[in-house]
Amino acid sequence: MRDFIFAANWKMHKTSAESIAFFRTFLPKLESRLGQGANGGVKRVVFFVPALNLTTSEQAVQGSSIEIGGQNIHQEIKGAFTGENSAVALRAAGAKWALVGHSERRSLFGETDQLTSIKMKTAVENGLSVMLCVGETLNERESNDTIKVVARQLEAGLSEILETCKSTPKKVAIAYEPVWAIGTGKVASPEQASEVHQSIRQWLTTRLDAKTAQEIAILYGGSVKPDNAASIAAKPDIDGFLVGGASLEPDSFLGLF
Ligand code: PEP
Repeated sequence: MRDFIFAANWKMHKTSAESIAFFRTFLPKLESRLGQGANGGVKRVVFFVPALNLTTSEQAVQGSSIEIGGQNIHQEIKGAFTGENSAVALRAAGAKWALVGHSERRSLFGETDQLTSIKMKTAVENGLSVMLCVGETLNERESNDTIKVVARQLEAGLSEILETCKSTPKKVAIAYEPVWAIGTGKVASPEQASEVHQSIRQWLTTRLDAKTAQEIAILYGGSVKPDNAASIAAKPDIDGFLVGGASLEPDSFLGLF
């Protein structure tokens, strides 16, 4: 039985005060929505907040089961890297998770598969759980390269942390996010999402082992909204959502649960 993870990616939204206000509304309403997830496991909730809001967000959710994460880390843990944030500092600020390889990091900030690979290793070595984002562009989908591209990103992202995947699979999650569906209002059909999720599970089975593959959560991300969430969650091998726009307001995020 896998847990079902509701993960929010706030991107570059919200000040500390706005984060506190969000949780003040969100928390009292959350309790009644928790319990059993679509896969029979428990529902888990993770918020990837801007680095400047980590401490206040962590304090705001204390006493709840919500886990806080950072949206990015530098591959080194300290040094002359002006403007960057280290995994060690993220942990100290209360982060349990790091998001790695989001398509905006890849396309807007030039992050390569190789960099993603190092960041995954750094995050894990410094005690963070990791959510690896993978997904194809529209061109790649139209060229029938989706499965190949996702497999390449999986190999890069996981090859340095194979032992962690096996020993603590709950500390590793994959977010399948077709690039053409992120922030566009275009959502993958439940069948399109499920096909890729099944291929990711298959990849994990071959590269790791069947038991580990069954335990690692595979989330879908890309314009998930209250009106399309249930049909996606109903498909096999979908173990949660990574949500941008709809996670910014308490009621729209809760509408997915
Ligand atoms: C994301 O940022 O990971 C995302 C899926 O955004 P949205 O839900 O807005 O498409």
